[in-house]
Amino acid sequence: MTDEDTHPGSGPSTPTDDPTIDADTIDAATIDGATAVGVAPRRRALSASRAADFKTCPLMYRFRAIDKIPEPPSVPAVRGTLVHAVLERLYSLPAAERTEAAAVASLPELWSTLVEQRPELDGMVSEAELDAWFGAAGALLHTYFGLEDPTRLEPQACELRVEVDLADGVPARGFIDRLDVSPTGLVRVVDYKTGRSPADSYAGDVLFQLKFYALMLYRLRGVVATRLRLVYLGDAQLLEYAPDEAGLLSFERGVVALWRAIEQASATGVFPARRGRLCDWCSFQSICPEFGGTPPPYPGLPEDGAAVTAPAPTDPAPTDPPATAAPLPSGAD
Ligand code: SF4
Repeated sequence: MTDEDTHPGSGPSTPTDDPTIDADTIDAATIDGATAVGVAPRRRALSASRAADFKTCPLMYRFRAIDKIPEPPSVPAVRGTLVHAVLERLYSLPAAERTEAAAVASLPELWSTLVEQRPELDGMVSEAELDAWFGAAGALLHTYFGLEDPTRLEPQACELRVEVDLADGVPARGFIDRLDVSPTGLVRVVDYKTGRSPADSYAGDVLFQLKFYALMLYRLRGVVATRLRLVYLGDAQLLEYAPDEAGLLSFERGVVALWRAIEQASATGVFPARRGRLCDWCSFQSICPEFGGTPPPYPGLPEDGAAVTAPAPTDPAPTDPPATAAPLPSGAD
């Protein structure tokens, strides 16, 4: 998801995670013809990353999703994007050629491509630093090969772009790093993290993203993923979760309520700052009231967001958020 709802990775998520979690900047292919559905490309939609932003701090959401204030690229985030690109390339090779050597060998070319696509990265790594830069990315790839054997996997899709309407017409968008489908139809959603696995207290936040993808897949194909897998390359950990239909539907109610809260905040311009553990990683401190700053005037929604309205009076009361954006719905976690 780029954010607009970009590919995951555009912004900090948790302190334990690589801020760029999603190599969302790599606009990957739509695969197998069943992926993206007919949604206007510029329509506002909710991604897992921006949903997490709003849950964390509505003002941070506003700065990213509505004001679209540029943020400096972070080294871990960019490294994560590069590693995602390598893994995507790796799985495009015949199974027998998916070796660690092949992955490492693709680093320079994919780095050059990334810098061409994102001029702001030019100069981020000097010539003198390139060996160390590729070495650090290579170490993450080495860890990857200790966790999964790509020669034995045949993903149905990598960097799968998904756009779909959830319940009540809530538009959702995202990129799934990898989708595995067994010959018997079992589905596994896989997400790579180049940071370290979270402490237990953050597990709910981390699973939010995978549940979000599983929900989109459920609405797109009508199947419940058998397994959700997070692959942590920072500390060589796998985190897995088995969703069920009732759980996904409950999660969806929370996402719908969250979107209603975002709509309401967007209509009113009320996006409260919520100070928390992620403030240390936030690039907006200088314009945040919690840190003595003053936000720029609210620009309102862009043209394509003109259809956003306040929640309909018929929305179910239990999921309706209050007039201000806080507190947030509890179901979306
Ligand atoms: S510094 Fe903290 S409170 Fe302020 S916008 Fe960022 S996350 Fe929100």
